[in-house]
Amino acid sequence: MAINNAYLEGVYNDLAARYAEQSEYLEAVHEVLETLAPVVEQDPRIEEQNIIGRIVEPERTIIFRVPWVDDQGKVQVNRGYRVQFNSAIGPYKGGLRFRDNVNLSIIKFLGFEQIFKNALTTLPMGGGKGGSDFDPKGKSDAEVMRFCQSFMTELVKHIGPDTDVPAGDIGVGAREIGYMFGQYKRLTNSWTGVLTGKGLSYGGSLARTQATGFGLCYFANAYLRDKGMSFEGKRVIVSGSGNVAIYANQKATELGGKVIAMSDSNGYIVDENGIDYKVIQVIKEQKRARISTYLDYVPTAKYVEGCSGIWTVPVDIALPCATQNEIDETAAKALVANGVIGVFEGSNMPCTPEAIAVIKGAGLLYSPGKASNAGGVATSGLEMSQNSERLSWTFEEVDAKLQGIMESIYKACADAAAKYGMEGDIQAGANIAGFQKVCDAMLAQGICY
Ligand code: NDP
Repeated sequence: MAINNAYLEGVYNDLAARYAEQSEYLEAVHEVLETLAPVVEQDPRIEEQNIIGRIVEPERTIIFRVPWVDDQGKVQVNRGYRVQFNSAIGPYKGGLRFRDNVNLSIIKFLGFEQIFKNALTTLPMGGGKGGSDFDPKGKSDAEVMRFCQSFMTELVKHIGPDTDVPAGDIGVGAREIGYMFGQYKRLTNSWTGVLTGKGLSYGGSLARTQATGFGLCYFANAYLRDKGMSFEGKRVIVSGSGNVAIYANQKATELGGKVIAMSDSNGYIVDENGIDYKVIQVIKEQKRARISTYLDYVPTAKYVEGCSGIWTVPVDIALPCATQNEIDETAAKALVANGVIGVFEGSNMPCTPEAIAVIKGAGLLYSPGKASNAGGVATSGLEMSQNSERLSWTFEEVDAKLQGIMESIYKACADAAAKYGMEGDIQAGANIAGFQKVCDAMLAQGICY
């Protein structure tokens, strides 16, 4: 889609010239700007105060060296990142990603998306993101611990419970959060809720582990219900097999769907009887093994090498929950040809712009990750509240709040789209509703120069 406004186009072109090599970041910015023309046209202050020029530039970018010693005694060096994107509505908040392909472009795209996602939750959280090109896969526990401690030794200077509160993302689960929290506490001699996704024995929130996957299905369910449909009896693809995917499987199944296919970065499995999320939990959370080993538990299932073919499996609902740009135009066409009714994003930016055009062009239901995967950060916000209160809420309490938040996000997106004449366009509605809140706060706070 084109950016139909001269001011927005000018900002984008400047950015594209300055950061030509940051393709993921430019893709994320373009996706937002192409939906904001009607908002910019109705409020002249946005251009007068160059809100867009300011919102696309991070407030602060920190890049640092992370030295650590491997099990052979060899000194390794990785790069660490924290992009503090926007603090207009609250302390920076967003996960840390540890994966070998992490670079500044990926962290900036994630941080930019996070601004709008956090605004949609209605909780007071600004946008940020960080990580490293360190990949915990194949490393021993001791190596992961030494890396996390070294990473935190620098990160500690930039975060704090009222400044910046990181969480997990790809490659950063309970184990990594625990090691980083321990090092933060040691270095600062203070116990604060500076990280979310913590273990239950030291300030974590019940239902945080499940939150992104459950939240995705609550959102999709609200969207389906609005269109007179439900998960009941539907065949579902859940790509990936990590934190988001496992609990998306659980909730989609509880809502009456049947998860037929899941994947990891090596390949995918198909089980016509429905994939039991508990088996994936054992494989991925306990054994840290490959998804191909599912056949050891369910010999009647099928394993296919290579992850991209998963989108050719005939289903009704697609829940991408692995990584960015995992659904390209070819995959989107395969989904449409198989009669899929909706694509609801669990991962961040899983659909390429070409794929989104195919999906929306065919009239499928479509929700962007910044809306439908906001349950994780929303529950992180609830973890921060519990830490401040020094209280722990029950699983049911947190889960009920999560469900309420996801249903309100769906409504906010649908209402914003309708208000600007784009009825039913949840992608545009998500961008507009998220932007509006941050824009109002930035206008109120002045130009802070
Ligand atoms: P995890 O590290 O727990 O899991 C990622 C999963 O995706 C792994 O199974 C991984 O396989 C798989 N994977 C990676 N690349 C591919 C690929 N190209 N094709 C198929 N599978 C792949 O991460 P999360 O579940 O936490 O995050 C998944 C996505 O959800 C990310 O986009 C993240 O930004 C987003 N997200 C996560 C939130 C959270 O609360 N955790 C919140 C909001 C968004 P392998 O084992 O081979 O690496």
